[in-house]
Amino acid sequence: MPLELTKIRNDFPILSQKVHNKPLIYFDNGATTQKPWEVINRISEYYKTENSNVHRGTHYLSQVATDHFENARKYISEFIGASNQRELIFTKGATESINLVATAMSDYINPDDEIIITAMEHHSNMVPWQQLCLKRKANLKHLTIQPDGSLDLNKLERLISPSTKLLAISHISNVLGTINPIKEIVRIAHKHNIPVLVDGAQAIAHIKVDVQELDCDFYAFSAHKAYGPMGMGALYGKAEWLDRLSPYQFGGEMISTVSFSKTTFNEIPYKFEAGTPDVAGALGMEAGLRYIDKLGIDNIRKHEDELLEYATAKVQELEGVSVIGESNDKTAVLSIVIEGIHPFDLGTLLDQMGIAVRTGNHCAQPLMSCLNISGTLRASFGLYNTKDEVDIFIVGLKKAVSMLV
Ligand SMILES: *Cc1c(COP(=O)(O)O)cnc(C)c1O
Repeated sequence: MPLELTKIRNDFPILSQKVHNKPLIYFDNGATTQKPWEVINRISEYYKTENSNVHRGTHYLSQVATDHFENARKYISEFIGASNQRELIFTKGATESINLVATAMSDYINPDDEIIITAMEHHSNMVPWQQLCLKRKANLKHLTIQPDGSLDLNKLERLISPSTKLLAISHISNVLGTINPIKEIVRIAHKHNIPVLVDGAQAIAHIKVDVQELDCDFYAFSAHKAYGPMGMGALYGKAEWLDRLSPYQFGGEMISTVSFSKTTFNEIPYKFEAGTPDVAGALGMEAGLRYIDKLGIDNIRKHEDELLEYATAKVQELEGVSVIGESNDKTAVLSIVIEGIHPFDLGTLLDQMGIAVRTGNHCAQPLMSCLNISGTLRASFGLYNTKDEVDIFIVGLKKAVSMLV
């Protein structure tokens, strides 16, 4: 079913704004998505009528807030295909989710062990593992990418050794748009008893995610890239792993009993949720995912794939343009470089025309050095973007190029 774009765009108040006196064209969805009324209203409704601390009070409001918070956990865990809501931990985003696992996994990483990541990882799925390896005197290895921006799974097989303790990989690259074959990668890793963490920050709003089908051990994602609020996210972990791992932070909520000398920890997921959680954030996150579900993730995917294909064909007509990331399996992200022009200069001129794109290294400096470029101009699409916007972007790009050469 095609998306009803006029109606959808009315759901997002920010989209009717003007920027530098021009209609806003928001092509920076890879950095964060805009929020529909459903999300904005859900958060404000919580503070207007439900605000109370959760899991504590015997009073009415606390019960309401707790029920809604736990219902959000249930909905979000079902959204990603988890079999049990105990496997979903609320965090402040994909970054914290990954740091949680990297810190908790530290007990299982010994000198000379290896962790494998890929060359296309966001700093959030690279630096935590690098620092863990430095601390534990382990080695961080990375799987290189092929010229089209995809991974070579035969190379992965060769990279794995008896010392490999964990594989951490993005589901979709925020720079290349590549959709990695996670199911196949997990199968390879599990053959060697290696757990897999998937960074799903770019995937959750664009493709169907089913953690049971992927069979990954951990899946990290953020609300704000899926039409929900900032500072909110989640970590899925298989119960067998979450039960084994030690808590990441300590305080209220995550305890069962406390004495001056000793503490016993709460069960999962609470063991990993120290302190008062962002209840409004959880409800907003649920509302964002419900919005996606209402439109249908497959309809969204089809729409964004069409936009990407259309925009890719159009930019390739321009002189000196190279598309960075040409995997057969990609979505929603168009990174380009234009010969002789700095992406930042292009981005600045496009901004003057009301067009929001991202320029630079996209939190993936090692990938930039692998590709031998300093940065790209990235247009990343969301469910509310249109072909008309792509046309304006192309005209703007041509104009900007003519001003810079
Ligand atoms: C945005 C992003 C992250 C980090 O997400 P935060 O919401 O900033 O924690 C991690 N990985 C990828 C691929 C991303 O695009």
